[in-house]
Amino acid sequence: MEVELEKTLLRKVGEAIHRFKMIRDGDRVAVALSGGKDSATMLEALLLLQKRAPIDFTVTAFTVEQGKFLSPIHPIGEYLKARGIPWTYFRDNPSLQLLEDQPDHGCDLCSRYRRRAVYEIAADLGCNVIAFGHTADDFCEALLRNTMFTGKLSSLPPITHSRNGDYRLIRPLCFVTEEITTAYAAACGVPVVPCGCSQRTGTVRRALRDIFSELEREHPHLKETMLSAMGNVDTGRLLDPRFLDLEGETAPQEMFPIVSEA
Ligand code: SF4
Repeated sequence: MEVELEKTLLRKVGEAIHRFKMIRDGDRVAVALSGGKDSATMLEALLLLQKRAPIDFTVTAFTVEQGKFLSPIHPIGEYLKARGIPWTYFRDNPSLQLLEDQPDHGCDLCSRYRRRAVYEIAADLGCNVIAFGHTADDFCEALLRNTMFTGKLSSLPPITHSRNGDYRLIRPLCFVTEEITTAYAAACGVPVVPCGCSQRTGTVRRALRDIFSELEREHPHLKETMLSAMGNVDTGRLLDPRFLDLEGETAPQEMFPIVSEA
């Protein structure tokens, strides 16, 4: 394992946890393992941080079976067992029934079923925090997708709460790019079990990924810049009246705002 890679990963995950108060003393964290490299990297990072953090928290992992894995999931279980990491494999019967009844159901329905299953598992495990492996790439893609296709300037929440307030939902990889998770998961030798859906990426997602890889040839820090932008919102230069000083009640900013370059 390359020391620098691990250091970078832990610095970025640590920054997210600290900045958004993701994990607190006494928390019981359930890590959603999807079978892919991102959530596997997140689990490793949280286990390492658990040993170093000045606060006490527990970490356990789980995987929801919705009938979409392309190969058997047990290599993951064996890998975790060999490392002494608690893991729960949950076959979600309603999701399996959905797949049988409506094989072409979309992501909305699928994720609604998954969310219900995830809450059920977290309750069984006695956890109050659920960690998801969305990466910096997901945050950047979501920002562009929402801006261009849903008319909303938003990305993903780094921290949020379940509707009934029972669970804190966190995304500790919000500053970690997939370049890092790919390299880290490979260096750890984590078994990756692909999901059928990951191989039929939608056209919008593919287009956005193409835009990123094209631009990143010239601007390799593009995603870091976008992440900084998401943490540095200039509401006075957007078109939402809720955030504009329509009556000039606050100190004047600029008489002639400069129209920004392309
Ligand atoms: S990509 Fe597949 S597994 Fe993921 S939410 Fe959509 S249908 Fe479900």
